[in-house]
Amino acid sequence: VRKDHHEPEFHQAVKEILDSLVPVFAKHPKYKKAGILETIVEPERIVSFRVPWVDDKGNVQVNRGYRVQFNSAIGPYKGGLRFHPSVNASIIKFLGFEQIFKNSLTGQPIGGGKGGSDFDPKGKSDLEIMRFTQSFMTELYKYIGPDVDVPAGDIGVGAREIGYMFGQYKRIRSGHEAGVLTGKGIVYGGSLTRKEATGYGCVYFVQEMLHGKGMSFKGRTVVVSGSGNVSIYAIEKAAVLGAKVVACSDSNGYIYDPEGINLDTVKRLKEVERARISDYVKAHPHAVYTPGCEGIWTIPCDIALPCATQNEIDEEAAKLLVRNGVKAVGEGANMPSTLEAIEVFLQGGVLFGPAKAANAGGVAVSALEMSQNSMRLSWTFEEVDAKLHNIMKNIYANSVEAADEYGYSGNLVVGANIAGFLRVAEAMLAQGVV
Ligand code: NDP
Repeated sequence: VRKDHHEPEFHQAVKEILDSLVPVFAKHPKYKKAGILETIVEPERIVSFRVPWVDDKGNVQVNRGYRVQFNSAIGPYKGGLRFHPSVNASIIKFLGFEQIFKNSLTGQPIGGGKGGSDFDPKGKSDLEIMRFTQSFMTELYKYIGPDVDVPAGDIGVGAREIGYMFGQYKRIRSGHEAGVLTGKGIVYGGSLTRKEATGYGCVYFVQEMLHGKGMSFKGRTVVVSGSGNVSIYAIEKAAVLGAKVVACSDSNGYIYDPEGINLDTVKRLKEVERARISDYVKAHPHAVYTPGCEGIWTIPCDIALPCATQNEIDEEAAKLLVRNGVKAVGEGANMPSTLEAIEVFLQGGVLFGPAKAANAGGVAVSALEMSQNSMRLSWTFEEVDAKLHNIMKNIYANSVEAADEYGYSGNLVVGANIAGFLRVAEAMLAQGVV
């Protein structure tokens, strides 16, 4: 990787993948000769642009927008948009790079991309969100399209933001190109189960890992970090499968509810009122709120589902989880465990579902949304959920198989990286030096 920029998150993501690919390059010298490694770490294109907008006080604000179009070997660029003050080129490149392998693992024809802005949606009025997203799309529309690049949501970008961006794209392009964005509202081309897909998919993946060892979610204690889109539906599915989810969080702090998190309350606070998780205790006084989100990993649990953000589990937190008896970790967020934390889990015999496999359900259903848009039809919730479940089972099976084949049995980090890489590498080889 060219180290001409200070991009720690991107380098972390690349290191994790490249370490896994050593046995692949040893077995297939053709990839080395074809320069696959040098090519795959360099994005096909990155755009960075000014996003000016007017706040409610009449002042002009300026943010920076990004889109990285990382790899289109197996399909149009595909990946979400993140609106968070921490967004910079390193974050977008790490996410875009991971997306290449994740999208490949889904088995769907989608390449890797990612984008976003350092805009902070927190505390903004609805009209401010609309003005910002319209300005963002006024530049982004030049680079995207249903067969070119198809963005979706991520941190800070949900159905409301996708709706405003779709409206602006439609207005500029003078046509209803449904397949240009995914995560749309159901009434204008969205797919049933997309909202639930990442959280449900993560739980389906962990279920496969547990089944492999004769275990299940039933009666297990689960901790889920975050309280956004991925967290809410991970909590929902884990509870349906008989687990008790005792904690969740936001960036300010975490809730411990020994009776089990009441999901109706979390949905009301987060999906309707856009409130803080600290308000949970107003409805459930027996629960405990603790400021500081990192403390959530001190709670003993059988299964940990980090669903908030990158590097939220460090080595210390991982050691604590292992000491407290954690049996499985499923990464709902992107790169939530540091490299050192992953090592602690693997050494400690914990079943570890890495992000690019465990959270691929969201983008898989986004690809199903694209298919439905192209065919101009809508599948039922049950149909999409069944396809999602099947895709997660396949990702698990393919990751296990790749790990076995390359001498890393039981290591799903290596297995997922290799399985995701091989499909992309073959497509790159077939397409020549481009
Ligand atoms: P949301 O914006 O819906 O929720 C994010 C949650 O994480 C919120 O509870 C938020 O708290 C918390 N959070 C965000 N940043 C931090 C931080 N720096 N420290 C602690 N907590 C934080 O996002 P999503 O649920 O969509 O995304 C969560 C993760 O899942 C991300 O890593 C994302 O990339 C990944 N992901 C999402 C997919 C999707 O389909 N949405 C698909 C695949 C992966 P607060 O409200 O205080 O900011």
